Amino acid sequence: MDILSIIEHKQKKMELSKEEIEYFVNEYTQDRIPDYQASALIMAIYLNGMTKKETANLTIAMANSGDILDLSDISDIIVDKHSTGGVGDKITIILMPIIASLGIPVAKTSGRGLGFTGGTADKLEAIPGYKVDIPIKEFKQNVKEIGISLITTTSNIAPADKKIYALRDTTSCVSNIPLIASSIMSKKIALGANKIVIDVTYGSGAFMKTIPDAIKLAKEMIEIGKNTGIEVRCVLTSMEEPVGYEIGNQLEIIEAIKALQGNMEKGVYEIVCALGTQILIMAKKVNTEKEAKKLIDEAISSGKAFNKFKDLVIRQGGDVSFIENISKFKNAEYIEPIIAKKSGYIVNMKTEEIGKIACFLGAGRETKNDKIDMQAGIVLNKKINDKVKKGETLCYIHTNCKEKIEEATKRLQKAITILSLNKVQQETILKIIK
Ligand code: URA
Repeated sequence: MDILSIIEHKQKKMELSKEEIEYFVNEYTQDRIPDYQASALIMAIYLNGMTKKETANLTIAMANSGDILDLSDISDIIVDKHSTGGVGDKITIILMPIIASLGIPVAKTSGRGLGFTGGTADKLEAIPGYKVDIPIKEFKQNVKEIGISLITTTSNIAPADKKIYALRDTTSCVSNIPLIASSIMSKKIALGANKIVIDVTYGSGAFMKTIPDAIKLAKEMIEIGKNTGIEVRCVLTSMEEPVGYEIGNQLEIIEAIKALQGNMEKGVYEIVCALGTQILIMAKKVNTEKEAKKLIDEAISSGKAFNKFKDLVIRQGGDVSFIENISKFKNAEYIEPIIAKKSGYIVNMKTEEIGKIACFLGAGRETKNDKIDMQAGIVLNKKINDKVKKGETLCYIHTNCKEKIEEATKRLQKAITILSLNKVQQETILKIIK
């Protein structure tokens, strides 16, 4: 078997065999296939798609490329949460301490930024000292002792996904249903979760731009779950505007801290409750949405969830004094307001473009080895349906690169539409698919 014929088969839209997929995954993981050939194959998959059988085989091959964790000694129910990606999405950082504070073990891996979307692992690294790359033994120990650990996909959990994910990110091959479904599910299988709630985002700031595509992605992951013994529930959420107000690594950590202290934007709260409800039902903690909401509200108002987050930060080497006093986070050197040029209502936000502008300012990577600027990003002052007066601030640019301000300003002016129209119909949570 050789990689050239595998690339050729996919170029000709043929179905790849299980052996071909395993060969590619194993050889690429072992660095025996160079990035340029792997990119060619990924691009052919991106353009020509994969059958359900190929997607299942790719998922299993990537899961088997490293360790398969057994968490059954921690609990017989291991619930996990994942998002298909978005802009300003800090839900994991808020929701998982809430869940852990309610006595449900949280053993979660998160990715790095992908395309125009941010990654939870990068965001956690904005906390000075926080280690996302701890050994699996420590990860399990943290879950056993404090009930939570949030790490990145370490070299030994689905390492094939880690390499392919970074390659897709830097070759514009992210928005593809089989590639997203196999990427997410391979990590979940390897991690030993048996119940997963997936936030399937749709809209201008998601990889799935339309609701039918989001439903297709949800169904694909539910099916992979059925074939691998994992119960999957998907919550379809709108990404027609960024999640919350802050976009960028440190900025999102600060918004998450405020949320855990009880100061949560309405849309963020709705997503936290929708996903949290499904987790609590799957973990058999509650039977209804009402009961779930009550537990979530109590976890926040009692300070239990915030304390759990502090425990997590301490345990993973982070400096908890930053969590206790957010003014310790140093701002970017330049904070520039973007001013409304007319009065009216915000009717549209080009959310992918806003994510791309945040990356341009330094919050994301353009090449695999780029270093992220933790302070860079955008803070919204207005969201869709907000009334705005000419001269008011729409949002703020945070950057350490003065020369980027002019271009970012022009692009942000174009990305936010103001009209004198009435309100836009907006639904944060569309539906639950199981
Ligand atoms: N999240 C993942 O883990 N993988 C993807 O491909 C997209 C979102």
